[in-house]
Amino acid sequence: MTQAHAVLHGIGVSAGMAIGNVVQVPPAAPFSPDEPATTDSASAIEKVHKALEQVASGLEARMATVPEHARAVLEATAMMARDPGLTGAIDTRLTSGTGVTRAVHDAVEEFATMFANLGGYMAERVTDLHDVRDRTISRLLGREEPGVPKLTSPAVIVAHDLAPAETAAMDKKLVLGIITAAGGPTSHTAILAAQLGIPAVVKTSGALELPNGTVVAVNGSTGEVIISPSQVEQDELLERAERRAAALKDSHGSGATKDGHAVALLANIGTLDDAKAAAAQDVEGSGLFRTEFLFLGQSSAPTVAEQTAIYTEVLRSFGDRRVVIRTLDAGADKPLSFANLGEEENPALGRRGIRLGFAIPQLLEDQLAALGAAHRETDADLRVMAPMIATCEEAEQFAESARAAGLPSVGIMIEVPAAALRSQDLLAIVDFASIGTNDLSQYTMAADRMEGELANLLDPWQPAVLQLIQHSCAGGQTNDKKVGVCGEAGGDPLLALVLVGLGVSSLSMAPGKVPAVRASLGMHTLELCQQMASAAVGARTATDARQAVLDLADQELNVLL
Ligand code: PEP
Ligand code: MG
Repeated sequence: MTQAHAVLHGIGVSAGMAIGNVVQVPPAAPFSPDEPATTDSASAIEKVHKALEQVASGLEARMATVPEHARAVLEATAMMARDPGLTGAIDTRLTSGTGVTRAVHDAVEEFATMFANLGGYMAERVTDLHDVRDRTISRLLGREEPGVPKLTSPAVIVAHDLAPAETAAMDKKLVLGIITAAGGPTSHTAILAAQLGIPAVVKTSGALELPNGTVVAVNGSTGEVIISPSQVEQDELLERAERRAAALKDSHGSGATKDGHAVALLANIGTLDDAKAAAAQDVEGSGLFRTEFLFLGQSSAPTVAEQTAIYTEVLRSFGDRRVVIRTLDAGADKPLSFANLGEEENPALGRRGIRLGFAIPQLLEDQLAALGAAHRETDADLRVMAPMIATCEEAEQFAESARAAGLPSVGIMIEVPAAALRSQDLLAIVDFASIGTNDLSQYTMAADRMEGELANLLDPWQPAVLQLIQHSCAGGQTNDKKVGVCGEAGGDPLLALVLVGLGVSSLSMAPGKVPAVRASLGMHTLELCQQMASAAVGARTATDARQAVLDLADQELNVLL
């Protein structure tokens, strides 16, 4: 850019560049503060149930008009409108005299707070809940359901948060880009925008203050929103975007370095919806299915039959491709109410992951039994791994149970420094390992991964973390076993080169990141990746490591970063 500009910063969740005029999505109708109290609870309950049913069936009716991958999102939102827990919470309020819109508002808030407290993936489901609330309240007030205004010309949509159902129904020819003030990288909105190929930036502070009609340039890769760029700057931005698109144009098929060294490129998933969406993309399978996301928010443990049904569907969606399923990694930031071992001073260092599985053996046994049953039902290349393994005893105990359940390929995650250091012994026990760079960085650098202020320490370019990855790969080589990466680091097109150079054989990431990583690998030989790996591990600081690798990289890569 030639001159300083007002720039808003958010999280880029769907790559690409869009330049266009802002159209703000008006906020939904709030509940009526002065509505009368409910005196006839039976008819109020009937009225609200009818509105909820209309919302659910309206969403289902739209399923026929949206692309295949968007249907599951509409279905999930419709299911939320019919959720007996939510309906029950509304009924309780109506019975005690609360007015109809207030009852819907308060009951949804109760659930939203619960989801938000659970954090991570569940917190991002709050958007779906709010969508149900806004649609239902509008119906109760006799208004149209809220949403994106009818567009007559192409525009950049700006909203507090977009309901996934709205995003799913968007017309790509009219919606050039999406900016939201709320939302997160794994929200349905983000996933859908990436699938639709609409550049999107979420969690953008200041977005709601943008006046309608303002020209903005949305960079869905960097998360930058440039306000009122000049014509020259717009041309520059578009030219860069075109170069990026051209670099990605031929990015398809199996991952490999320029000289043909294969690196499997896989998708990280957390739900059945994610599985279906990812399977529809050009990925070689899933390298991480975070199964705990299936159970967060549930009050009792799912049965073996329930779990079998879900795993079978996940496996079926990938056909004969690889699916690496991780057993429950609950605890710490992902608590499960039915697997609560009580308060802990330091939950991240407490009984989480496999430790919880051993503390409540039924939980692990049931999950392994369900995975074994799902395996027998399908043709997928199923591999199962345990989170948070630190010792050989843990790996042995897990491997024994998993093999007894009939699972053909048993692995561990390497995300505790002890496991990285002892990978040679661990990989003699199991069939493969997958490095969780998120936790490996947290535990190596003693920096809480939820603490934004410690981003420098959590940087996976830290040479100490890279050295542990190197050591993990060496343990794999000694045993002739594969070691992959499934933490966020694998989705960085530059760092991916280092990981491959260190000996990693597969990279699993948010599916939208696969094309850039694939293109990056295709620009560099294995030998160059190995040189990059030595340079990065040999650097003194994370900044030096990244710079050293950038200096060795093909100039063409810049456009993908
Ligand atoms: C990791 O720690 O890198 C990982 C992939 O697991 P999670 O992010 O689910 O803890
Ligand atoms: Mg982890």
